[in-house]
Amino acid sequence: MDTTPSNIGLIGLGVMGSNLALNLNDHGYSLSVYNRTYTLTEHFMAQQAQGRTIQAAQTLPEFVNQLAQPRIIMLMVTAGRAVDAVIEQLLPLLNSNDIIIDGGNSNYKDTTRRWQELTEKSIRFVGMGVSGGEEGARHGPSLMPGGAVEAWPAIRDMFQAVAAKVEGVPCCQWLGEGGSGHYVKMVHNGIEYGDMQLIAEACHLMQHALGMDFDAMADTFATWNQGKLESYLIDITSQILRQKDVDGSPLVTKILDRAGQKGTGLWTAQDALEHAVPLTLIGEAVHARMLSARKDERVAASHILGGLEAPVPAEQRQAYLDAIHDALYAAKLVSYAQGFMLMQTAAKQYGWNLPYGDIALLWRAGCIIRSRFLGDIKASFEREPVPQSLLQDPFFALELKQASSGWRKAVALAVMQGVPAPALSSALAFFDGYRCAEGSANILQAQRDFFGAHGYQRVDRDPALHFHTVWGIPP
Ligand code: NAP
Repeated sequence: MDTTPSNIGLIGLGVMGSNLALNLNDHGYSLSVYNRTYTLTEHFMAQQAQGRTIQAAQTLPEFVNQLAQPRIIMLMVTAGRAVDAVIEQLLPLLNSNDIIIDGGNSNYKDTTRRWQELTEKSIRFVGMGVSGGEEGARHGPSLMPGGAVEAWPAIRDMFQAVAAKVEGVPCCQWLGEGGSGHYVKMVHNGIEYGDMQLIAEACHLMQHALGMDFDAMADTFATWNQGKLESYLIDITSQILRQKDVDGSPLVTKILDRAGQKGTGLWTAQDALEHAVPLTLIGEAVHARMLSARKDERVAASHILGGLEAPVPAEQRQAYLDAIHDALYAAKLVSYAQGFMLMQTAAKQYGWNLPYGDIALLWRAGCIIRSRFLGDIKASFEREPVPQSLLQDPFFALELKQASSGWRKAVALAVMQGVPAPALSSALAFFDGYRCAEGSANILQAQRDFFGAHGYQRVDRDPALHFHTVWGIPP
């Protein structure tokens, strides 16, 4: 039996862990693997690890003894208490300076806490967001590491080797201290919710407001995937719409319209509220999934409140399709602008120096939100000075101006036909609010002062001064 110390140890041989282990080994890194349930380890060794430099361990002491020192141990276990449980079991077996990497979908607040606790124990802890699902883990994920920067030189080559690449640039860059890696992963997942919701709304409009059949919709998405909307999600949507069931009907018509969620979109929306960031599009995407879950209630309401209007005449279809294309593009841009606004706000609070351009690059391949458009976002963060928001970037500002009339036309179509389009329309409302130099909050402030004597600032006086009016009495 080979007793050469392994380059890295991996705990958790579920879907992600087993694929990541094979990926690491493909790139020349020897591994030791451990899984709580040993039968899974045996199965992995027999079915997938034959002939590879992968050693199995039945116990954690055996596992840590197989590793080269200082040890590099990656956890791919269920997020939450399992991560704490495994760390607790590992700690008595480790030496100072060993590295633990949590590659699960951990909440960044847990990662920050673990980083603090383990730093005190001289263990280098890294929270690494891993995106791309099973396929990504096996052939090239997008990796978002953060935590103990002293660990980075020891793990950089290994993880940049296994990550997805765009023109040779690995989708794996160091993001910052504490929970920054898992924070960026959380925002990525929120953006994924938003992108998916926007596409779902576009499909709904095509089907119900334009009366299109599924093959025509699939063709439209395939065409759009050749242009500025080119992305993994647009591509798979085209394939999904074309898929037939055994009876020849489109499979999507047989799929229950009740969406599941594992909670990372909700985390993003909650975090935005905590940071006072108007992350409206992702919030709407989370709400839309919640409303979708109320299937029985919606069916009952449709009988009481009525359903959709009849589709528009076929001769108007192409003009509306172009409008939906523009709406999708512009709303997606708003969503990314909001996501970066959230990261910028959180980074300020937590003292992170997030590399925003690199983040855009990390997401260009290996993950679900990969798209052509991320290259344009990277370019925006390379400008001098960096625009305050992607929406103020000269390139995107022009794009938005050009898309604006189609965007309005698509949202108006949704409103007139009664097709719900919360993400497309809330993005437009945000855009209009964002570019509004004189908003409506003067009325809110007056109301607050009227009923609560909360005071207000005046546009014609020093903003440091607060005024109160006894309303209804002439000045
Ligand atoms: P999975 O297939 O369900 O595997 C879960 C693994 O966690 C198993 O090895 C399980 O061991 C282990 N585990 C659970 N509780 C444990 C405990 N208390 N102590 C020790 N080990 C424990 O999960 P997965 O899909 O590979 O996901 C792993 C992590 O990656 C999760 O955080 C997930 O959110 C994240 N992630 C998943 C995806 C995806 O597409 N699946 C994508 C990105 C990130 P046993 O065999 O003993 O139960």
